[in-house]
Amino acid sequence: MKFRTRAIHVGNQKDAQTGAVVPPIHVASTYVQEAAGEWGEYDYSRSGNPTRANLEETMASLESAAGSLAFSSGMAAIHAATLLCKAGDHILAGRDIYGGTYRLLHQVANRAGVDVSLVDTTDPNQVREQMRDTTRLLWCETPGNPLMSITDVAACAEIAHAGGALLAVDNTFPSPVLTRPLELGADIVMHSATKYLGGHSDVLGGILAAREKELHDDLYFIQNATGAVLSPFDSFLVSRGIKTLDLRMRSQCESAATIATWLDSDPRVERVLYPGLENHPGHEIATAQMDGGFGAMISFEVQGGFEKAKQLVESTRLFQLAVSLGAVESLIEQPAAMSHASYAREDRLAHGITDSLVRISVGLEDSDDLVEDLSQALGE
Ligand SMILES: *Cc1c(COP(=O)(O)O)cnc(C)c1O
Repeated sequence: MKFRTRAIHVGNQKDAQTGAVVPPIHVASTYVQEAAGEWGEYDYSRSGNPTRANLEETMASLESAAGSLAFSSGMAAIHAATLLCKAGDHILAGRDIYGGTYRLLHQVANRAGVDVSLVDTTDPNQVREQMRDTTRLLWCETPGNPLMSITDVAACAEIAHAGGALLAVDNTFPSPVLTRPLELGADIVMHSATKYLGGHSDVLGGILAAREKELHDDLYFIQNATGAVLSPFDSFLVSRGIKTLDLRMRSQCESAATIATWLDSDPRVERVLYPGLENHPGHEIATAQMDGGFGAMISFEVQGGFEKAKQLVESTRLFQLAVSLGAVESLIEQPAAMSHASYAREDRLAHGITDSLVRISVGLEDSDDLVEDLSQALGE
């Protein structure tokens, strides 16, 4: 079956008892055993829940994984992945990553004696040079956040494996519609299900999917032992969102391409960062690695610095001023003051996240209305 069909049918079998086309939401926390010590398929809802299992089955299929696990948030999923590392292990992560991941690595993972360093993952040579004997996990995000940098997943997988490490890819921005990292050699794929998978700004969730069964089992052990599972109600919302994921993603990509091209030609805008534009340094790899679209996230720098960027994000009428992304409503934000405020300022500037940078998440509204909104907000 093709992707769109699997998104609707895998993990969504009709209810055997009633014929309901949508499986019921199983809220029970515990399950009756036939006899003491005789375990059924489910015994306790942290260890396994039918509604969560349905979502996990869908995501394993869409990501070509041996199995997937649903967490209470994207950060909970990333945290579980970092727990594969023990004291003395090293995590090598990309520079252009989600602000919360940066914080988790530098202020939480390090407390357990895990070493963390960052590298520009767009350059495979630098990645190879920065690998250490102790590197257990290479972590990257493509398109990166917020600079939309493109990392060659297949090249990073080769480097990680040559050094005896695992490659994990945060696939939140492209979603499995556009990129399936496990098919390119990655070992773990991670999602903030809060974004495109859910798609409607009404649920928090996270996903880990592993290429190999053994790694999936390790991650399952960590998830069950630490407990940050996705609730049945929230699992249902993410499952519902995934049914329209392909349709939403492709339509949002199309609008984003239109808006990026328009921004690129507007003199009030200094620089546009969108992998679909030919002038983007990662355009070639993105074309090879992304399936029929370049995502619906765009960053751009305005003429006039911090104050002008601040004024812009506060002047749009359709684009709402909020962090997060990936839903039907368009959002706008200023990374320096919002999504990446958890970076130390020197680090932020060193990473190219300037004060005049603006990031937009293009939603499902009509692209003409979105262009008009940005144009009026850019002002004179
Ligand atoms: C939002 C986000 C996360 C964190 O996910 P939460 O669901 O907010 O915990 C991680 N990575 C990326 C790329 C994100 O956009």
